[in-house]
Amino acid sequence: MFTIAIIGRPNVGKSTLFNRLVGKKLALVDDRPGVTRDRREGEARLGDLSFKIIDTAGLEEGDEASLPGRMRAQTEMAIELADAIFFVFDSRAGLTPDDRFFANLVRRADKPLILIANKAEGRAGEAGAVEGYDLGLGDPVPLSAEHGEGFSELYAAIREAL
Ligand code: GDP
Ligand code: MG
Repeated sequence: MFTIAIIGRPNVGKSTLFNRLVGKKLALVDDRPGVTRDRREGEARLGDLSFKIIDTAGLEEGDEASLPGRMRAQTEMAIELADAIFFVFDSRAGLTPDDRFFANLVRRADKPLILIANKAEGRAGEAGAVEGYDLGLGDPVPLSAEHGEGFSELYAAIREAL
C-alpha cells in the first residue's frame, strides 16, 4: 500500500480532507490556530484506490515561533514517510508566506505531488484556485473537502501521479 502525506499551513483544510478520505472523524478539525494536534494516520479510500494517509498537525498552543522548528520537523518527517504528497492551500484566502514556506519544503523532497486548491466550492473558490499556479508545483486540483466536491478529479490526479 502506498502512503500520501497531507502538507500545508494551518487552517487550509488538511484534517477535513483526511476525515473525508478515511471516512471517520479521526482528525480534529478546528479553525482556531494553536490547538495542539498530533500527526495522524489512517487508511484512505477513494474509488478503487486504498492507501495510507498522514495528516500533519498545527502549531503547538502559544508557540507561534514554532513554525520554522516543530512544524518543519513534523512536515519533513511526514514527507519522508510518504510516497506522494498532497499539498493543500486555501483558494479563498489566497497564497500566504506560510504557503510558500511549506511549498519550499515539499519542492526539495522531489516526490510525486498533487497540488490541492481546497475550499474551491462556489465562484470565489474557483477563481482563487488558479492562484495556485504561482507556487510552481503544477496544476492545482480544485477541491472542496468540506462539501465533497472535486474528488473524481483528485482520483484522476493520483492515478496520473503514481
Ligand atoms: P487544517 O488546520 O489544515 O487541518 O484545517 P481544518 O481541516 O482543521 O479546517 C480548517 C477550517 O477550514 C475549518 O473551519 C473547516 O471547516 C474549514 N474547511 C475545510 N475544508 C473546507 C472546504 O472545502 N470549504 C470551506 N469553505 N471550508 C473548509
Ligand atoms: Mg488539522
